[in-house]
Formats: sequence, C-alpha cells, structure tokens
Amino acid sequence: MSTVKCIGILTSGGDAPGMNAAIRAVTRSAIYNGLSVKGIYRGYRGLVMDEIEEFKSQNVSNIIQMGGTILKTARCKEFMTPEGRKIAYENMQKHGIEALVVIGGDGSLTGARIFAQEYNIPCIGLPGTIDNDLYGTDTTIGYDTALNTILDAVDKIRDTATSHDRLFFVEVMGRDAGFLALNGAIAAGAEAAIIPEFSTEVDQLEEFIKIGFRKSKSSSIVLVAESELTGGAMHYAERVKNEYPQYDVRVTILGHLQRGGRPTANDRILASRLGAAAIDAIMEDQRNVMIGIENDDIVYVPFSKAIKNDKPIKRELVNLLRELSI
Ligand code: ADP
Repeated sequence: MSTVKCIGILTSGGDAPGMNAAIRAVTRSAIYNGLSVKGIYRGYRGLVMDEIEEFKSQNVSNIIQMGGTILKTARCKEFMTPEGRKIAYENMQKHGIEALVVIGGDGSLTGARIFAQEYNIPCIGLPGTIDNDLYGTDTTIGYDTALNTILDAVDKIRDTATSHDRLFFVEVMGRDAGFLALNGAIAAGAEAAIIPEFSTEVDQLEEFIKIGFRKSKSSSIVLVAESELTGGAMHYAERVKNEYPQYDVRVTILGHLQRGGRPTANDRILASRLGAAAIDAIMEDQRNVMIGIENDDIVYVPFSKAIKNDKPIKRELVNLLRELSI
C-alpha cells in the first residue's frame, strides 16, 4: 500500500475536451480515498512558477460539461532543462506533493517520465489529447468529441460541396497520426482520407483520383491530416490545380475549433473512469504508468511503452473507407 497522502494534478500541452471531467474525477476520487489534492496551474509552468492551490471537492463542481481545462494548460520550456525541473521539485516539496497526476499528450508524458526518473516521484499519466496517438490505449480523452466536431463541420461542407460539384480538401488535426482523418472520413461518408501513416508508401492523391473520383458523384470530400508528412490540405489543392485542372477544388482548415466544445458522453465517461483509476494506481503504489483503456478494461501502460511506440492504424479501416466510397 502507498504512503502518499497528497497528490498534485496538472493539465499540460494541447488542451482536449474532457480534461475537466478528468480533473474532477481525480480530485473527487483522491478526496474519497483520504488524500489531499493540489491543483497546479498551466501545466509544468505552474510547478516551476509555483502556481499551486489546494483543491477541495467544490473546486471541481459544475465543470464536467465544460471544454478546455480549468487548470489551464501551457507549454513550458524551463521544464525541459534539469534546472527547471529542480525548481519544480522544490515547489512540489514545499507544498507537500508526493505524487503527480499529469493529463496530457505524448510530450507531457515524456516530461513526467523524465521527472519521475530524476526525483523518484510516482507519476501517473492520463491520455489527454484529441489526436488519439498514444500507444496502449484504445482511445484518449478528447478524441471522441473532436471526431464529432469534425463530423458536424464536414456535414455542412457536404451541403455546399454538392451544390457546386466541388472537390473539398478538409484539413483536420492529428499531429502525425491519421485517426481523426480516417475515422472522421468513415463517419462523415467522405471519399478518402490522406494520412501521415501512408505518406511514404503511396501517392494517396493519385490513388484517390485513379479509383474514380466523380464517376458516380457530384462532389467529393477528402479529409487530410495536418502533418509535415502529408503536407496538409493546401499542398493537395495546389497539386490538383496543377495536375488535374479539370476539378474545381476548395480547402477548409478546421483548426482550433476541433479542440473546443462540450465533451461528448463517451469522453466524460472515459475521463471519469481514467481519473478514478489514476487514484487507484497511486493507492496501489503504481508509478510511472499511463492509465489506458483496452477492450473496455482499465490498463496500466508503462510510460516507456505509451510514448515510444507508434499506435498503428488498422488497415481494415482504410479498406472500409475505400469500399464504402465507390
Ligand atoms: P503534448 O503533451 O500535447 O504532446 P507538448 O509536446 O507541447 O504537448 O509537451 C507539453 C510540455 O511537456 C512541454 O511544454 C514541456 O514542458 C513538457 N515536455 C515535453 N517533452 C519534454 C521533455 N523531453 N523533457 C521534459 N519536459 C518535456
């Protein structure tokens, strides 16, 4: 059994809908189990700058339905240096924080891993990112909401695309992961997805055009994952203008609206389960693991595994999209 009596919680990196539900779950579950909770503002910056406050149950009232994060989030360069992390550690000690729950993406969990190793602090990670790009968990907090936001936008784009017989490239987030683009395309009934995972394998534009764009359709929508590997939607629109000038092409970049909004039921439930499981893990003396979900069961994934491995895209989904878009 653990001897931890006080935990710190922070949200770091890119924000994601459902982070508030996770903060609520971690806080309430900790208090339920007799632990005290310190809310750390602006991610690792709050640890370095000493922006830390005691959290009671009422601090997390009425937030489960809110997008964003009440703890705010930031990127913190100082924490990437040993000097910065030393100050962070001293501030932790000053506030009596004995374990840390970090809600964030790949970068935030990398930071947690390094910090945990350096100072022998139990750190528990929660996968909070709309990109769904963390290995060892079926899904991440914010992914479902972002997918639904994409659907909403693409459904609207479809109305105008059809009225004008146009080819639309819709750029979605993903940061080198094609989950939002591929599953968004399947759910929106789009014609294709251009994803970083296949960018070196095939010319995805050529393939899409060859398969028979417009043979039986008046409009086409292609979701493009924003990534240096794909080049983004503008790159493909330029290519179409040059290589296939017969098509009337348009681009929509969805951008930050994908990060906002009220979390879906799935994200709230996921965040609640993962948040409570983070406290279970601390009580069991687990350390340096990310809490994930696999086949609807909670799993502990060592940081090294969650961060270092690329989460694979299922070929089956790529084939499904192709099959259903004829
Ligand atoms: P995300 O968590 O969404 O992937 P970032 O990659 O921007 O976001 O990382 C968030 C923060 O995590 C960084 O600003 C930094 O404070 C911390 N971090 C990321 N990588 C490292 C690292 N290698 N060492 C220490 N801290 C890191």
